[in-house]
Amino acid sequence: IIRMRGVGKRYGTFEALRSVDLDVAAGEVVVLLGPSGSGKSTFIRCINLLEAYDTGDVFVGGVRVERGRNLLKVRQQTGMVFQAFNLFPNLSVLDNVALGPVRVKKLPWEDSRRRAQALLDRVGIGAQAAKFPTQLSGGQQQRVGIARALAMEPRILLFDEPTSALDPEMVGEVLDVIKGLAHSGVTLVLVTHEMGFARQVADRIVFMEEGEIREVSTPDVFFTSTRNERARAFLDAVL
Ligand code: ATP
Ligand code: MG
Repeated sequence: IIRMRGVGKRYGTFEALRSVDLDVAAGEVVVLLGPSGSGKSTFIRCINLLEAYDTGDVFVGGVRVERGRNLLKVRQQTGMVFQAFNLFPNLSVLDNVALGPVRVKKLPWEDSRRRAQALLDRVGIGAQAAKFPTQLSGGQQQRVGIARALAMEPRILLFDEPTSALDPEMVGEVLDVIKGLAHSGVTLVLVTHEMGFARQVADRIVFMEEGEIREVSTPDVFFTSTRNERARAFLDAVL
C-alpha cells in the first residue's frame, strides 16, 4: 500500500534522507527505530507530503504522492498522529473528531458527531466528549488525536512518537489503543522509542541511521540477533 523508491530529502546541503526504498503491505505494522536525527520523522512525513521529497518516488495505494490533484486523495487515505497532539483548542473533544469528515467528506454535523462519539467510546474517552482539549490529561488528549485520525477512515495511520510528550503513567493507555488498532485492517507506520511495544506489535522493524535504512527485519531477529553493528550499538544504548 506504500511504495518508496530512491526517496531523498535535503535540508539545505544536509541530506536527511538518502535514497530510501521500502514497501509496506496493506494491514502491516511497521515500526521505525533509530537514533535522534536519523531521519525517522522526515521519512514518515514524506509519506503524506508534510515534507516534500527531492528525489525518488512515493506511492500510496498506487498513486504517486505529489503536489496537485492527487494529494487530497493521498491525505484522505493517510491519517497522522503527532507527538504534540495538535488538537484544536477552541473546539470540544467531540467536534475535534467530527470536524474532518464534515470539512472533507461533506458529512452533516449530526452524522459526523454520532460517529465521533462512537470513536471516542472506542478509545475509552466517550465520557469526555463535551470537554475542551485543555481539560483533558495528556493521555486522553492523545486518544482524541487517534480518534480524530480514525474519523477519516484512513487506510494508513502514521504515528510520530505518539507517547513521547506524555507523563510515564499515561503512556500505557495510549499504547493499548494503538495495539487495538494493529492488525485490524488499517496499516500502521510508527516511530516510537517504546521498545517493548515495538517488539510486541511490529510485523517489521526498520532501523534507520544517518538518513539511510540500515536494516529491515522481524522484531524477533532485530531484538535478539541483529548482525548490524549500528543496530547492535543502538540497542545496547536504549535497552
Ligand atoms: P528524532 O528522534 O530526534 O525525532 P528523527 O530521526 O525524527 O529524530 P528527523 O527529524 O527526520 O530525525 O531529522 C533528520 C535530520 O534532519 C536531523 O539532523 C535534523 O536536524 C534535520 N532536519 C529536520 N528537519 C529540518 C528542517 N526543517 N530544517 C533543517 N534541518 C532539518
Ligand atoms: Mg523525529
